[in-house]
Amino acid sequence: MPATLEGGAKLKFQCRKGIACWNACCSNIDIALTPVDIVRLKQRLDLSSSEFLSTYTVPYEMEKDGIAGVKLRPVDGGTACRFMTHAGCGVYDDRPTACRYYPVALLSMRKQDESTDRQYYALVREDHCLGHREPRTQTIDEYRAEQGLTEYDELARGWRQLILKKKSSGPAVGKPSKRSLELFFMTCYDIDRFRSFVASDSFSKIYELPSDELHDMLLDDNELMQFGFRFLRQVLFGENTIAMREHNIEERRQRIAERRRQLEQEAAERMAREEEPPDVDL
Ligand code: SF4
Ligand code: SF4
Repeated sequence: MPATLEGGAKLKFQCRKGIACWNACCSNIDIALTPVDIVRLKQRLDLSSSEFLSTYTVPYEMEKDGIAGVKLRPVDGGTACRFMTHAGCGVYDDRPTACRYYPVALLSMRKQDESTDRQYYALVREDHCLGHREPRTQTIDEYRAEQGLTEYDELARGWRQLILKKKSSGPAVGKPSKRSLELFFMTCYDIDRFRSFVASDSFSKIYELPSDELHDMLLDDNELMQFGFRFLRQVLFGENTIAMREHNIEERRQRIAERRRQLEQEAAERMAREEEPPDVDL
């Protein structure tokens, strides 16, 4: 595990046109995308999020049987990025977070003695990258600002918090149901499908949203994304982040109570048999 660094740590590095390793990093990619990356890239390419996902990405498991992530799909039969050109990145202004950070890795963590998550960093040193031999030195925070990461990180914060919470909750809340995992994927990565879901009659029959708030977020990918992270806190962790219509609250309460009863009964039976925890569907 590389050393954990804070934003004030010094970084001696520069990537510049003309460097001997130009494009080496983009020739063999393993780039996980954030929801913000997908929104920026699908807007740039003038695609719907579903079209972008099917053409440019592959899903992957962030943890076994857990929530999914999305990675950039390399060129067919190769390892290079589809956006790489001789002149450099073909989507430079909208390049993903991981490309902006390189050679720094972002570690979003909550330490045992801290109540909120914090960003830490690690330095990635790969033999092919000659940028570490360049003389320029700046702090990681300066590098982040230069790479436009302040805005990217702020917009993706809710998503990282969901992942942290899911990972740290572990078996205490059990595995999310298949439906919750599908909702997570759609909400985080397929924003245009999530938009249709939020605009549907079935959504407004369950959730009570002021019509001006609903109207504004349906027109703005970033606002809709932030709403999506709130929605997922309710779906995955039972937090009351979005007002529900009265009859749905009662229905949900009864469903949760019934599910808890089942879980307790199953846990008792499992303890007797010493089995793994089951799926949770609240
Ligand atoms: S998106 Fe751009 S910077 Fe990132 S791997 Fe592809 S070509 Fe390189
Ligand atoms: S210096 Fe590093 S980041 Fe820049 S082109 Fe070379 S390998 Fe890629």
